[in-house]
Amino acid sequence: MTTAATTYLDHAATTPLRPEVAAAMAEVHSAPLGNPTGSHPPAQRARRLLEEARDEVAAFLGRDPGDVVFTSGGTESANLAVLGTAEAALRERGDAVVLYSAVEHPAVRESARATAAAGMEVRELPVDGRGMLDPDALARALSSRAVVVAVMTANNETGVVQPMAEVVQAVRRRAPRAMVFTDAVQAAPWLDLDEVTGGADLVSLSAHKVGGPVGTGALAVSPQAALTPRQFGGGQERERRSGTQDVVGAVGLAAALRLVAAERPAAAPRVAALRDRLAEGLLAAIEGAHRTVPAGVAVLPGHLHLCLSGVEREELLVALGAEGVCASGGSSCASGALEASPVLAAMGLAPGLAAGAIRLTLGYGTTDADVDRALAVVPSVVAALRRTA
Ligand code: PLP
Repeated sequence: MTTAATTYLDHAATTPLRPEVAAAMAEVHSAPLGNPTGSHPPAQRARRLLEEARDEVAAFLGRDPGDVVFTSGGTESANLAVLGTAEAALRERGDAVVLYSAVEHPAVRESARATAAAGMEVRELPVDGRGMLDPDALARALSSRAVVVAVMTANNETGVVQPMAEVVQAVRRRAPRAMVFTDAVQAAPWLDLDEVTGGADLVSLSAHKVGGPVGTGALAVSPQAALTPRQFGGGQERERRSGTQDVVGAVGLAAALRLVAAERPAAAPRVAALRDRLAEGLLAAIEGAHRTVPAGVAVLPGHLHLCLSGVEREELLVALGAEGVCASGGSSCASGALEASPVLAAMGLAPGLAAGAIRLTLGYGTTDADVDRALAVVPSVVAALRRTA
């Protein structure tokens, strides 16, 4: 997406709402819309739209429609998955260990840590220098006391893809009663989730990472996963998430996923080629720059994470933004200020290098012109900052 002023390379943070999705959402309001729980025609229409959207989300995930719970986004899905399954298990068994990988998004990490307050034991699973989960550490941590194992399908900062099928197999072998939750928010635009989530019990999605609206998401919950709700009320979503459903949001999520499913086979290799051209150009033009994730590791097609020495990340991002190139540090706290990245720390990256690490993320709308512009702007901005350092 290039406009006169903006080269947007921050798709992992949020994606532009696709016009087709906006049109599908606007169409919902073209006729009276009731509450999906009602009995009159506008309510019946709402229910039909909601259930059609659920069918599409389920098909995207390779799950049954009854497994899909609509939520307000990736954060709520993660909270519901981790806290909901952990609490249900604790009630049943009176003892629970919650495991999560050291590179989880804060939505997952903080949900896992929050279970400690309810008396559960919480353990972080280490990753290696590539950002990959350490299979031996996972095996050692698994026991019959484990109730939830949270490992993301792909990381939001580095784009590193985890071998979910192996994770699920290890859990089934050593902790057969434990539930596997995978945060597939970042993987959704790029990978076939049915394939790469490896049969995980719970899978989360967020609409605004796939060209859909902010404030809508979903959690797939397998029938064998007992889940204590986090939100109480009218018992919507089969008692798993109370509250009047956001029909417009659900229609938007389904429309976005429909586009992704149709376009991904062509978009993924095209964007990966653009990303590789961007990487090669930047590495050649910026002295000492290197890719944070070593070659040979599976990374999402849109992700490029670079370590640049001699620059301060926030200064660099502001300077790039002033030149119309939108990138990010990959990790921001609620105030919007950049914090030290727990993901890079878990990978053992030296703090000096992590301080100058940036994330450029391409999306379905990224063009050759975007890459040309970034190649023209980023090296000269880095050079200018280094001169004044
Ligand atoms: N999980 C991952 C991997 C993410 O990248 C994000 C968003 O940054 C979330 C969860 C949270 O999703 P949402 O913004 O829909 O709450």
